[in-house]
Amino acid sequence: MADDFDAIVVGAGIAGLYSLHTLRERGFSTQVFEAGEGVGGTWYWNTYPGCRVDVESLEYSYGFSDELQQEWEWTERWPGQPEVERYLNHVADRFDMRRDIKFSTRVVAAHFDEERARWNVTTDDGQVHTAQHLVMASGTISATKDPRQDFKGLDEFKGEWYMTSGFPTEGVDFSGKRVAVVGTGSTGVQLIPIAAEQAGHLTVLQRTPAFTLPAKNRPMDPEFQTAMKARYPEHRALAKTMPFGVPIELPTISLLADEPENVQRRLEACWQEGGVAPLMNLYTDVLVDEKANEVVAEFVREKIRSIVDDPQVADLLCPNTYPFGAKRPCLGTDYYETFNRDNVSLVSVRENPIDTFTEKGVRLRDGQELEFDMIVFAIGFDAITGALNNIDLRGRAGMTIKEAWANGPNAYLGLLAADFPNMYILTGPGSVSVLANMYTSIEQHVDWVADLLVDMRERGRATVEASHEAQEKWMAHVAEVGDATLFPRADSWYVGANVEGKPRGLMLYVAGLGVYRGICDEVAAKGYEGIEFQSDPVGAV
Ligand code: FAD
Ligand code: NAP
Repeated sequence: MADDFDAIVVGAGIAGLYSLHTLRERGFSTQVFEAGEGVGGTWYWNTYPGCRVDVESLEYSYGFSDELQQEWEWTERWPGQPEVERYLNHVADRFDMRRDIKFSTRVVAAHFDEERARWNVTTDDGQVHTAQHLVMASGTISATKDPRQDFKGLDEFKGEWYMTSGFPTEGVDFSGKRVAVVGTGSTGVQLIPIAAEQAGHLTVLQRTPAFTLPAKNRPMDPEFQTAMKARYPEHRALAKTMPFGVPIELPTISLLADEPENVQRRLEACWQEGGVAPLMNLYTDVLVDEKANEVVAEFVREKIRSIVDDPQVADLLCPNTYPFGAKRPCLGTDYYETFNRDNVSLVSVRENPIDTFTEKGVRLRDGQELEFDMIVFAIGFDAITGALNNIDLRGRAGMTIKEAWANGPNAYLGLLAADFPNMYILTGPGSVSVLANMYTSIEQHVDWVADLLVDMRERGRATVEASHEAQEKWMAHVAEVGDATLFPRADSWYVGANVEGKPRGLMLYVAGLGVYRGICDEVAAKGYEGIEFQSDPVGAV
């Protein structure tokens, strides 16, 4: 059957491309379905002005092929979306991937056929395809929040409105217009300074201020790039063992035990260096101890007050409702400076939220009306579970993933869900996922899954799934490790707080990638402990 595969992969982002390459190399017939017209996932969809990476380019790239990493030349410290998209297109061409990717094709349903031990996968062109294995490379941050679900009246608005994910690729013309940006997370923080340069007037509608650290972007130093390439294989090997999937000096001292003047000097050095990693990894106690955390939080607030001229605006920009780092800090270029511009105003919609959109703009709860020509929504994603829930995904006995995860997502190692045999969730709930460089997280997941599939083939196994017991134990461990940190204290997408009605709980394993990799390797070495196999399901082909 031409339409029957060893594996179907959903998504052609970083995870889908590497899954295709690896599974093909291991001799599995593999078909990828991708909703977009091109490869890149995140870097295909997020074409808003200012979109760029917050992990350094020489790290935020594949390590599986030395030829690839030697030949690609990065031009910036934090590459912009177009450069990352170009890189991923280069990868797709270099490894001849496109022949096994069906673009503009959305998977709408995937049902596990218990009799035949195969997945029946339905795409939006009405075709049904079958495969033994289903690799969900559908993205952790790919299901965008629809503003029509968060807000009333958007259909009444007579101006233009856009979402940052799926932003028109030809760009939009802000010039001279009264523009509003809703949302001040990583996306809003990147977009706002650029929109401000062009707009007639920019109004930022902020619900929760973010901790924004300076990016200090710069062109790539050719000598630095050459030196890195000379030691790339050792560097990548080390990255795999590190908590954040990037070789860095790990913290050894506690902030609270350090002399106050040393603390300020060290914090200042991190600020001057730019990037998220230095401040997050300076001390051992910043993400676990409230007092230590408050020192860093106050350091950032002081920076905001020193940059922003209007004290009232500065106050509104100071985050004080959650600990520093418990949500991903944002990387900005001239973000706080932007609020000193005459054509920029900040409106807090925290106490006085958006009531409804109107023909001319927006009405806040207190009745205040603001008029705009254009609104851009940077309101985030139904992260981690959204892309899975968007598919009619059914495992054993027709159980849907929504039913299985009604009280919160459950997956052994964040990878395998009980009752969903032969399905692999890449960077799923309960894995380290975005808490590490995603390339390192993804390569680890795909390699582990590929080894599992080879093992199954060699042993003639038809199905694999997590045991309920192993899954419960893993998720309890994820929660326990998380509870020892400050991560659960923030209303973030990490805990599902950004989507109304979503079950609340930390969905990321905060112990770090090195520890996580060790656990996954040990599970495999023990003959896939916690995982159940079937060799001969009734009627299996
Ligand atoms: P995605 O890139 O999300 O790809 C998933 C693909 O699956 C998409 O193309 C989507 O169209 C497709 N898909 C989903 N559902 C279906 C379906 N039903 N049928 C068919 N196709 C489907 N991480 C970092 O580590 N560092 C960063 O600097 C960084 N910056 C980011 C910036 C932005 C703006 C965003 C949104 C995320 C960022 N991330 C970053 C996280 C980023 O998502 C990952 O680094 C990485 O790109 C994820 O790759 P992926 O292949 O797992 O998923
Ligand atoms: P986000 O972090 O979830 O931020 C969304 C913003 O929209 C928040 O300020 C949020 O306020 C606001 N918002 C949401 N719903 C709202 C509503 N109904 N009314 C008013 N405000 C509302 O989403 P994001 O900025 O797209 O970033 C998501 C993740 O993508 C990041 O954490 C990061 O992992 C990744 N990313 C990385 C980069 C990078 O630097 N490389 C860039 C972009 C994205 P509340 O906080 O109050 O909910």
